[in-house]
Amino acid sequence: MRKKIVAGNWKMNLNYSEASELIDGLNNYDNKSVELLIFPPALYLDLAQSKKGNLGLGAQNIYPADKGAFTGEISPWQLKEMGIEYCLVGHSERRSILGESNSFLKEKVDALINNGLKVVFCCGELKEERESGNQNAVVEQQLKESLFHLSETQMESVIIAYEPVWAIGTGLTASADQAEEMHAYIRSLLASKYSDHTSENTSILYGGSCKPENAKELFSKENVDGGLIGGAALKADSFLAIANSF
Ligand code: PEP
Repeated sequence: MRKKIVAGNWKMNLNYSEASELIDGLNNYDNKSVELLIFPPALYLDLAQSKKGNLGLGAQNIYPADKGAFTGEISPWQLKEMGIEYCLVGHSERRSILGESNSFLKEKVDALINNGLKVVFCCGELKEERESGNQNAVVEQQLKESLFHLSETQMESVIIAYEPVWAIGTGLTASADQAEEMHAYIRSLLASKYSDHTSENTSILYGGSCKPENAKELFSKENVDGGLIGGAALKADSFLAIANSF
């Protein structure tokens, strides 16, 4: 049975005391049926690790090398050593603002998997790609070029997050039917590339202006296994309300 997961991407938000307070507001979480993950800025990973309770903890980014002359970057090997379990890859902000390509994301996926970390792989189409009906082809290409070289066993360490770019931080949400349609499509790609087993066991999260008001409807869909949450993950009450929306 695949896992239900609600993950919070804090992006470059919160100062140290705000981050500390938010972790305190979440670390008594004890709903065993939904995993709650947080992705704080790298600066606060150590703090989060020291008082995370039942929360899962991940980094927002890595550079795909274990160590070396990569000023300003952090490595999967360093994260593993700290006991960090997850990392985001392919977030649309890194694709568009930092210019990360599918082939560079593939390197990140490999670096993480080789260090035993779990990958939350983000994919999703731009507004104009949806308007021209190309959303399935775009997502398929992202998955094929960055993820589908993995073995079936390695895919057990991957969670997929479908995040239509036009819905991220915009207040626009994909309808529950649009999300379900894409999630079912991704599941069909997993079945043809790997197997029914992998398709059925891979968690697929929805991201894009998900909040307490719309989470219940999104999560009621058969192929939506939870959410990757940006803005609404910055307050304990709204993040917990989303986690309790199944
Ligand atoms: C995100 O950045 O992954 C995201 C889904 O943001 P928001 O919930 O704010 O749209």
